[in-house]
Parts: sequence; C-alpha cells; structure tokens
Amino acid sequence: MYTLKEHDILTYLTGANDKELFGRANATQSQEFGNGIYLRAIIEFSNVCNKKCHYCGLRAPNKGITRYRMGNETILNAASLAVSQGAGTIVLQSGDDFSYSTQSIGTLIKEIKTQHDVAVTLSLGDRGVDEYAFWRECGADRCLLKLETTNPRLYKRLRDGEEFSSRLHRVESLRHLGYEVGSGVITDLPDSNLISTLQDILFLTALDLDMIAVGPFIPHPQTPLAQVAPGSIELSHRVTAILRILNPHANIPATSALSALEPESQRLALTRGCNVIMPSMTPEDHRADYTIYPGKNASNIDITDSLTHAKSMIRSLGLVPSSSKGFSPRRNNVQ
Ligand code: SAM
Ligand code: SF4
Repeated sequence: MYTLKEHDILTYLTGANDKELFGRANATQSQEFGNGIYLRAIIEFSNVCNKKCHYCGLRAPNKGITRYRMGNETILNAASLAVSQGAGTIVLQSGDDFSYSTQSIGTLIKEIKTQHDVAVTLSLGDRGVDEYAFWRECGADRCLLKLETTNPRLYKRLRDGEEFSSRLHRVESLRHLGYEVGSGVITDLPDSNLISTLQDILFLTALDLDMIAVGPFIPHPQTPLAQVAPGSIELSHRVTAILRILNPHANIPATSALSALEPESQRLALTRGCNVIMPSMTPEDHRADYTIYPGKNASNIDITDSLTHAKSMIRSLGLVPSSSKGFSPRRNNVQ
C-alpha cells in the first residue's frame, strides 16, 4: 500500500506544493537516516562501451572522445585513497566494456575487500547473470543497474534496440543473487511527461529497491539527443522527494547530473530526501574523459579534493558525512 495516492503524486509533480513535498521528504529522511549522509566513492575505470544509448556520450559510435581503460593497480590506488579519506563504499563503474574478464573484475573485488573494510558496488551494465553471480562470491555487495525509463518502447528506442524486459530480468536476478540492488531512471528524457514520470515512480517503488538513483537528462553534443533540452532540476528533485516518501528505507543519492547542471542543486537535494553522495575518485589523467554528459567530472577539483569537497558540502548543511558502509536499513544489514 503506497503512502501517497496517484493523484497526490501527480499534484506534487506539477510543483503545486513543493514546500510540503520537500518538507515531508526531509522529515522521512531524518527519521530513517538521522543526519548522516553516506559517502560512496565512484571509480570510473573505463569509458569504453559497446552500447549505443542515444543519451550517453560514451556510446560506441562516438569517435570524439579519448577512450581509456585503467589497470587494476591504478584502480586499487584510487580505492585506497578514497578509503583513507572516509569513503565507506567503493563504486566500480564503467561503460559496458567486456574487455575486463569475469576473472579480472573478480580479482579486483577480492583485492578491495581484502585491503579495506568497505562495501563494493558494481555499475558495469549488461554483464551476464553468471558473471554477477561470480562477483557476488568474490565479495561484491551491491549492484546499480538503472532502467533509465520504465516505458518499454522508449527504452528500446533510446537504447538502440535493446529490450526493456532483459534489463528488468537482470535487475530482478541480482536480487536473487543476494545483492543489494539499485536502479532508477533519467528524468525528462524525450517523450516523457508527468504521466510517464508517475509511472516510473510507481514502477520503481513496486520493485522494492535498496537504492534508487534518479537524475535529470543532460544532452551530450556528440549524441543523437544533442538538440534535446536539458531536464528540469526541480522535476528531478520532486521525483526523488516523492520516492523518498514512498521508499523510506531506500538509499537515494543526490546525483552528479544535478551538480553538472547546477552545483547548488546537488547540495539542495540532500535536504529534500537524498541521503547519499557519490564523489568521483577517478584519477586526474582520465576523469575529464568520462564524459557521459558535459559537466561530468569537469569541476577543477582534483582527486584528493573530491571527498573533502563533498564532506564540506554536507557539513555546510548541518549534516554529517558518514563513512559507514551504508546498507539499506530495509535489509537490517550490519553497517
Ligand atoms: N554502462 C553502465 C550502464 O549503462 O548501466 C554504467 C555506466 S552509465 C554511464 C551510468 C549511467 O549514466 C546510466 O545508467 C545513465 O542513467 C546515466 N547517463 C548516461 N547518459 C546520461 C545523460 N545524457 N544524462 C543523464 N544521465 C545519463
Ligand atoms: Fe554505455 Fe552505459 Fe553509456 Fe549506455 S549509458 S552508452 S551502456 S556507458
């Protein structure tokens, strides 16, 4: 049973009652998580991708970016730096880059888990369920696999022929493998509207996720969606606030897409229901090439300042940066 009726969600989505919505979301967040904000360091270890998502600058046909792949040693050094600066989770993210074997990703996970008392999240895209099973055995704790949109036709169009049902099946399989599962959508994709956004919210809520990531669409100049307008920050805030009320126990990040559009909006999201922040710890040599969209990692903060900057932002709100592994309270997991 949802704590908000569809009609109320739609009214909130229009922005008719932002003050009440954001106040309720903030109260729910404080009740569930106190004043702690989880720090998850993201290491974007490869920008090579074999997919053709119409929204993403890393898509395979984009010849305009410098591709890179980081080796295990570089990734492990970045992880050590992140842990020394207070990260409780290491998020390993990449394009759908199959040149990293099942075994080599497994070795990386084992090394991180042996060297540090942290959680490991995988955001590696459409790898096989058998591979995810192996990585779970190697010690990975969570996966993030966004549905991007819950409209199967739009999904197929924007992911260049891919099937929504396969993505959904993968998300559901991860749960059965014992992972904490994160998913989410991009707001304001072309042909979305308030009704489709309502449907996304209800769909994600019905999935009973441990983590829900939502951020606005940002056009990348070297993609088929270059001419589409950027998503609304306010709508993205409303969606995460509504999801917070509907999913009190889920971890909900203030996404980097917000900060790419307007840095202050990421800070604001932490007072509107979001309880996680994922600073990039991708080394200087490569971070500017992880151009999912313009503005990603483009700040002049270097890797050693990345978590420091996030911590000051959190403290400036009277909140507390948390180095806890930050499992979702819905699972009663050990922190
Ligand atoms: N390749 C993996 C995948 O697609 O699941 C992980 C990396 S992918 C770059 C991470 C996320 O970036 C995607 O799930 C998508 O939501 C987001 N993304 C890509 N292009 C975007 C854009 N133009 N605007 C907003 N978010 C975008
Ligand atoms: Fe590749 Fe992920 Fe970008 Fe799609 S969203 S092109 S799968 S990196």
